[in-house]
Formats: sequence, structure tokens, C-alpha cells
Amino acid sequence: MRIDVVSIFPEYLAALDLSLIGRARRDGILDVRVHDLREFAHDRHRTVDDSPFGGGAGMVMKPEPWAGALDAVVASGPAADAAVPHLVVPGPGGVPFSQALARSLAGEPWLAFACGRYEGIDERVYEHAAARMPVTVVSLGDYVLNGGEVAVLAMVEAIGRLLPGVIGNAQSLVEESHEDGLLEYPVYTRPASWDDAGTVREVPAVLLSGDHGAIAAWRHRQRLERTAQRRPDLLPVSATTGALADLDVRPATPADAAELLVLQRACWVREGLEAAGRWVVPPLAEEHDDVVRGLVEWTTLAVRARAADGAPGRLVASVRARRHPDDATRWEVGRLMVAPDLQGRGLGRALLALAESLAPAEVTGFRLTTGVLEEGNQRFYRRAGYRVVVGAGTPAGAVDLAKRRP
Ligand code: SAM
Repeated sequence: MRIDVVSIFPEYLAALDLSLIGRARRDGILDVRVHDLREFAHDRHRTVDDSPFGGGAGMVMKPEPWAGALDAVVASGPAADAAVPHLVVPGPGGVPFSQALARSLAGEPWLAFACGRYEGIDERVYEHAAARMPVTVVSLGDYVLNGGEVAVLAMVEAIGRLLPGVIGNAQSLVEESHEDGLLEYPVYTRPASWDDAGTVREVPAVLLSGDHGAIAAWRHRQRLERTAQRRPDLLPVSATTGALADLDVRPATPADAAELLVLQRACWVREGLEAAGRWVVPPLAEEHDDVVRGLVEWTTLAVRARAADGAPGRLVASVRARRHPDDATRWEVGRLMVAPDLQGRGLGRALLALAESLAPAEVTGFRLTTGVLEEGNQRFYRRAGYRVVVGAGTPAGAVDLAKRRP
């Protein structure tokens, strides 16, 4: 890939000689050419800025040097195929830079970057450029930098590392944060037990178990929980829209266990009465410690009403989900519960859809169990696409339901 960068501080881009991007340049994977905008300013002082028309603070970058620089970049392209670069102009008012945009730009053969400074570049430069090449204004985030160079360093690094051959192990790209909308799981290395000046810090035991299925399940759960805790905005849209829109949805912690136990008692009490001692209804038989253990084995979402100030209030609903311990293609959903006074508002349907949407890519089917006497529940799951499956291991008083992943 060829990359041209135009800046009044070409030395700022020297960092592109370092590390993996530097090696990619030496290996010929990346052809980075940095141009000094002042080379295209033809007055004695090589002026590139002037005061803004209409008044206001600061200076604006003049159009002529920019037009000259961009035209020179285009003219330096391979004459034969009349190729032009895709021009990326960093700017706080641009489209947000993301892993998806990095991936899309990594598919281009030629990128050019125009680093603004001061109050930005005369608007007519964008028109000049757009008449010659595709132009995208891209923001690194919702804050203001002094110039585009730092943004270009970040973008070139994010784009460059996606090019074949830049990162030794391509698999490490697949498992990273943002690749499939979730953050990455926590990572550890030796020593397994670290004496941190008297505090012993252990690596989670599952990572030492050699059980690849259990490790994959643990990692997926960590990704979901980390995403929900740090970046709930990245959770599937179903977590923040529809019936769940005004509620607080996040992974349950042991601090939620007491309320979860109360809610499950409230939601299953009728089934317990109907069972009349003929079989055990697990949500009624469980104690606090069982619920806490369940939080370790499953990803449990706690849904809370919001108080007037937006703070999370009482627990109103919950669901849990996990990869089947012995079958990575099966996603188990359970303990779907909605406070009795809030049933019938679509909350259960929304939570079920959310629990399904958390399944990792290799999952091909969903499974859940409900009470054999709970016809209302069975109807609810049938409407959601589940069908009764008969198999060994269904506990007394229960019915297993399954659905293929759409
Ligand atoms: N007056 C401009 C505004 O309010 O939109 C800000 C100009 S900023 C001081 C100067 C240059 O820094 C911009 O032209 C752009 O190249 C770069 N820049 C600043 N913030 C950026 C961001 N969040 N993302 C990408 N580039 C940014």
C-alpha cells in the first residue's frame, strides 16, 4: 500500500520508521512518503496560513499550498492506470475512526493524508480535492488536537497492521477488541502466581487447565462482561433499544445475588405451587450460594429500573446464557425472569433476543428449559422460534426447547 502524508511538520511522522510499521516499510509492504506543505508555498516566508474571513480567533491554512501539494501527490502516481489516492483529512468534525473504517481503508491501494493545523484548512481545498479523488474527513475522537499528525500516526498504525504480512500471527488480529463488536478478554503471562510485594496475584485457574473449551467459554464471558461494564454502547443494539431502552442492563455480580434470588422466587412461585412437591423446581430450591455459583458459570444480565436521576434502581428482570460446557456450538439460555408487575410489556422477549445475540460466532443453536406445566412460557418460546426437543437428561417437570441460530 502507498501512503502519502502532507504536513507542515514532516518530522512528526518519523515515528512511522519504528516498530512493525517501520519494518513493513523496509519490507516493502508499506510505501510511506511524507511531504512538507511549505514546499508548496511560494512566497519568501513560505506562508501557509492567514487570518479568517469574517473574523474570529486563530489562523486558517491557505488554499494554494494545499492545492499544489495535493496535485503533486496525484501527479506522482503511476501514470499508466490514472490511479488517484483516497484522501483522508483528519478533523474533529469527521466520521469517527473505527476498526471497521481501518479495515475498509486497509483495502485501498493508495491513501493520502492531509494534516491540518491552526483552525483548519480553507474549505475550498476540500472542493478542489473532491474534484480529483475520493475524500473522507475522519475524526479520531470527540476532542481537539493541535494538528492532524497524531491522528495520522494512529490511523496509519491501525490500518497498516491489518495489511497481510505486517503482524506475524494473523490470528491475533481476529481475536482483538472491536473486531466483532466486543472488547478483548483479559490476558496473562508467566508467572502464574505473582508475588506483587506481598500481595499474591493469581492467573485465573481456567487458563491453566488445558481445557480449550472451558478457556474459550471463559474468554467469551469475559468479553461480554468487559464490554457491558466499560462500553455498554457496544452491546448489541437490542440492549439499549425497544423494551430495554430506559432500563439499566449490565452483567450481574455477586452483589446482585440476593436480589436475583428474591426475583427468581417471585417468578417461579406459581410453578412451585403447581408442581405440588412432585418434582424440584430449581429456581425455588436454590439458595444464595447457588446463585453466586451460577454467576461464575453463566453470563447473567441484571436489568434494573432507573431512578429519576438515572441511577440504577430495583432489579426488574434477568437472563443468563452460556456456551454448553461440552458443545461449543450450543448456546444455553436460562433463568429468564421479569418482575411480575412488569410482565406483558415485551421485556422478556427483548431479554431473550439479547441473550441470543451474545452467542459467539461458532454457535449454531440455542437451548433452554422451561416448566412442563408452564404453557404460557412454552407459547412464549414457540413464538420466539423455539420447538420442543426430546432428549435424555431433561429433568422431571421440565421440557427442553431448541432453535437453530437464524
Ligand atoms: N477549529 C477546528 C474545529 O473546531 O473543528 C479544530 C482545528 S484543530 C486545532 C487543528 C487540526 O488538528 C485539525 O485541522 C485536524 O487536522 C487536527 N485534529 C484536531 N482534532 C482532531 C480529531 N479529533 N481527529 C482528527 N484530527 C483532529
